[in-house]
Amino acid sequence: MVKYSDKFRVEEGNTVRLDKIDAGFKNKYDQTSAQVEIERYTKRLRELQYLLYAEGKRSLLIILQAMDAGGKDGTINHVFSSMNPQGARVYGFKVPSAEEASHDFLWRIHQAAPQRGQVAIFNRSHYEDVLVSRVHDLVPRKVWKKRFELINDFEKNLVESGTHILKFYLHISADEQLRRFKQRIDDPARHWKISESDYKEREHWDDYTKAFEDALGRCSTKHAPWFIIPANHKWFRNLAVSQIVVEALESLKMEFPASSVDIKEIREKYHKAEEEEAAKNGKNGKKTERKNSNKAGLA
Ligand code: AMP
Ligand code: MG
Repeated sequence: MVKYSDKFRVEEGNTVRLDKIDAGFKNKYDQTSAQVEIERYTKRLRELQYLLYAEGKRSLLIILQAMDAGGKDGTINHVFSSMNPQGARVYGFKVPSAEEASHDFLWRIHQAAPQRGQVAIFNRSHYEDVLVSRVHDLVPRKVWKKRFELINDFEKNLVESGTHILKFYLHISADEQLRRFKQRIDDPARHWKISESDYKEREHWDDYTKAFEDALGRCSTKHAPWFIIPANHKWFRNLAVSQIVVEALESLKMEFPASSVDIKEIREKYHKAEEEEAAKNGKNGKKTERKNSNKAGLA
């Protein structure tokens, strides 16, 4: 099995060249065979998220960045929708409001960081402040240049306090982007997604590419790695992202907290009569205990 966390991780300190990375990579998969694996991973993801929630000690932060139409929404819909909304939240970061803009650039981000036991998924993030802000000169060069270090320090702080961070750059080609825009034009249900600025931003493709390369190279750290996911094939993207997230959560070696009560005593006290009744009627009371209760169950 190919471990995509190794294959697609940006090594700390490496220079990134996106034109050297095949956005159409799909390994040995086609849509049907990928789907089988995606289902397996998303099911496991749900179990692991339940465990994270139950354990309540650590949190998970997933950051999604991409060019327009790169598949951030689709990844959330197809990979992360398997999670229980009680323990997971999605935050979309748009042009900062007047209040947000009057604080430091990490202020709004920090407020959305996940609390223990929770998963936060960022659809865009503080990386916009070294991407769009740089490409459109929203701040002077000397301001955005300092931000790489500020971002690394900020993420380190989150990691130190128990947050596991995974950052995904969904890599599509310029041709694929245009094809996706065209699909939106052809589908009335997706017309609402079209904005002319998306087409205008294509004129800045090379500037965005440069800005992404710097951000991915300078802010991929051991504690908060970037993964460059080939994303021209949506199903391959979903497969790679789901595998990486599952592997990361497995590596946390989480455990259910011990019960705060004496199970035997509670059983005796409140369930004895019912169990005896069931036994009398030919059912073995003990067997009513949930099967698979050693696995992270689905509440
Ligand atoms: P969308 O994701 O299509 O809803 O668009 C959100 C828009 O907000 C994109 O054009 C982003 O570039 C923009 N945006 C997000 N964060 C920032 C930021 N910190 N500064 C400026 N623009 C931003
Ligand atoms: Mg957009």
